Amino acid sequence: MSKKSKPVRFDATVNPSVDHTLAIAEGSHLNNLAQRLMGLGRYEEAEPLHKQAIEVKERGLGKDHITTALSYNALGETYIELGRLDEAEIFLQKALDIRQASTRSIDDIDAAVTRENLGVVYEMRGDLPRARQMRRVGAPDNMLCAYNKCELYKVKRRNLLQCGGCKSIYYCGAGCQSKDWKRHKKYCKRDASKQAA
Ligand SMILES: [Zn+2]
Ligand SMILES: [Zn+2]
Repeated sequence: MSKKSKPVRFDATVNPSVDHTLAIAEGSHLNNLAQRLMGLGRYEEAEPLHKQAIEVKERGLGKDHITTALSYNALGETYIELGRLDEAEIFLQKALDIRQASTRSIDDIDAAVTRENLGVVYEMRGDLPRARQMRRVGAPDNMLCAYNKCELYKVKRRNLLQCGGCKSIYYCGAGCQSKDWKRHKKYCKRDASKQAA
């Protein structure tokens, strides 16, 4: 048979591969759908969509791509809401490794978001010293208010106030602290920071 009858393959060095294009388009589509479900509190339905997004992104972009990290972080947030902390930690750690390795300053804040998510995982496990340590990695410039509905949640903050009880969680002010108290009070233990090595 003539070689001419073979289909022409994409040359990845010249054209972006099909997988790459699919990863960007399909990956962000799946991510948007999943985020919408999360906004409605439908975390069980969001989980498989985040996993599908991760699959196409890993195939098309790679396991260490910053766009793949976005889905690792989002799946981690989903597992926090589902109380599946071990799985949350695995995906958040993957996201953190990529985001912290990035040299783009735009990724600093996303790294801080992932550190705050990991802080919540450790907090929910009752490991407040570890939560504190993780949250303070970006101190003093790259920390976040821990109240996840804070208007300034994705803004780098300085001079955050720490919880006077456990000294393991940080807020932009008393307003955010009191709004997060309903969630945090289950985990807040006085002087937990003294357990830190
Ligand atoms: Zn705040
Ligand atoms: Zn506290």
